[in-house]
Amino acid sequence: IERKDIRNIAIIAHVDHGKTTLVDQLLRQSGVFRENEVLQERVMDSNSIEKERGITILAKNTSIMYKDAKINIIDTPGHADFGGEVERIMKMVDGVLLLVDAKEGPMPQTRFVLKKALQQGLKSIVVVNKIDRPEASPHEVIDQVLDLYISLDASEDQMEFPIVYASAKNGFAKYELDEESDNMIPLFESIMENIPYPTGDEEDGLQLLISSIDYDKYTGRIGIGRIERGSITKGQQAVRIERDGKITQVKVANLYTFDGLNRVEGQDATVGDIVAISGIENLNIGDTICSVDKPEALDSIEIDEPTISMTFMVNDSPFAGKEGKFVTSRHLKDRLERELLSNVAMRLEEISTDSFRVLGRGELHISILIETMRREGYEFAVSRPEVIMKRTEEGLLEPIERLYVEVPEENASTVIDKISQRKGEMQNMEPVGDMMKLEFLIPARGLIGYRSEFLTDTKGYGVLHHLFEGFEKHKGEIKARNRGSLVAHETGTAVAYGLFNAQERGRIFIGPGVEVYEGMVVGESSRAEDIVVNVCKRKQMTNVRASGSDDALKLVPPVKLSLEQSLEFIGDDELVEVTPQSIRLRKKILD
Ligand code: GDP
Repeated sequence: IERKDIRNIAIIAHVDHGKTTLVDQLLRQSGVFRENEVLQERVMDSNSIEKERGITILAKNTSIMYKDAKINIIDTPGHADFGGEVERIMKMVDGVLLLVDAKEGPMPQTRFVLKKALQQGLKSIVVVNKIDRPEASPHEVIDQVLDLYISLDASEDQMEFPIVYASAKNGFAKYELDEESDNMIPLFESIMENIPYPTGDEEDGLQLLISSIDYDKYTGRIGIGRIERGSITKGQQAVRIERDGKITQVKVANLYTFDGLNRVEGQDATVGDIVAISGIENLNIGDTICSVDKPEALDSIEIDEPTISMTFMVNDSPFAGKEGKFVTSRHLKDRLERELLSNVAMRLEEISTDSFRVLGRGELHISILIETMRREGYEFAVSRPEVIMKRTEEGLLEPIERLYVEVPEENASTVIDKISQRKGEMQNMEPVGDMMKLEFLIPARGLIGYRSEFLTDTKGYGVLHHLFEGFEKHKGEIKARNRGSLVAHETGTAVAYGLFNAQERGRIFIGPGVEVYEGMVVGESSRAEDIVVNVCKRKQMTNVRASGSDDALKLVPPVKLSLEQSLEFIGDDELVEVTPQSIRLRKKILD
């Protein structure tokens, strides 16, 4: 059948270009919201951490009715690729909306996601947003988008993208700048006209590829995907083919479709529909759900193996804030286990009753979890990140990442230098406008602690992401030292708490991208900002200087900070006794 009543699209946008506002507006105008009803919650991208880091990591579905058709909009992660998420999303859709700010133009961060979409042969609509702004320069922006498509090897067909100019904020869209419009209809129409509708045989055997996993307290694990072939009915018997080819009989206990922002129970669905199902044990990304009489797997989805691990421990330090809501190992364990249900590239190992090893796709992947949990009120300490090695007959192997970097031209030499120090080998170099595009192969080790330094070096304009390349023979010691780290000098060293290990004497990881070197360790928490704040509070220190990512610095209002190489604590002289073998550092100072 031809599902002319459906369009499945992904939306690609740089943070702040107006994705949330646009989707709100489309929902509003499609009649989901009553006139003047205030949206309580932002539609997509409600995770505040994503906003702060300038990335989006949650893929969410929104479903909008336009006339008699249903437009399914799937959010895309704006930046890093945590194990194949972007590819998974692109498998569910037939086209994309590239949303671009009419003043800023396309940002390098969206390049990666757009590239994946173009590689899949998807059609796109370019939406130039915020044209109401006086500084808007939509013509220039279109030129930049054209350049971008050329540099991504878009096909001729893809280069002829339709353009819609919009002011999501004011709720209008139009095809030509000098047109009058007071609604989003041109955008709806453009989607209906330009994005292909799904087709397939609804009588044939069912094929549904699980592309995303969600979790619900009541229903448990929920698999989301698009029906490629055939139809599905609630309660039906089916066959599940797992990624490794294992076949099991299953029952589709519950079936859901999407309506606005909600998941609603449904009875049946067919070719082209994006559905969610539950009631299947250990349902996983990459599983194909098929009809019993024609069990044929769809091309599965690769999920990259974890390369970095960090240990999470219950924080029972005498200095623990006890402000957290969740402080026991039970809490910690439950929370981590829950994370695994939807964070598919993450793994968990229980080391002891109160410590857990979390394995992920890189430092950022795990850091985001740490921050999310802290905000939820979990109290815990973390170790520094470690690379996951493999031992074979040939010797010790380590994970290598393919690193993609885009930096302003004037910073290119600094960045190349630093990456080489970290044993990165340049594979490619190419100018794109006034940016330089670089590609390296680098041991995953070399990336630890590098992101914040990179952002400092490129004044926040650089873009960095990496994909797993493979395991290779261990490349020897890396000497590069992280700037953007906090260096504690001997004087006035204060409260210490954290993971320590014998070879790493005097060095401790205290948070995303921040490490403390030398002498005594400062701080009691895994967040850089806490460390500074706590130390200052407890020791009444003045004159603290720090370097590090802006993240580490911005939450420290009581002390004066200047960007320097090191963090110095100038205060009284109590020392901390360090017992390297033990996990904890004992403190011997007054309180
Ligand atoms: P997102 O990060 O892409 O989801 O961006 P948001 O939808 O949160 O928008 C970021 C900011 O841009 C907000 O302050 C919006 O009010 C503003 N904004 C969004 N669309 C428009 C627009 O069409 N015109 C103007 N002037 N501002 C807009």
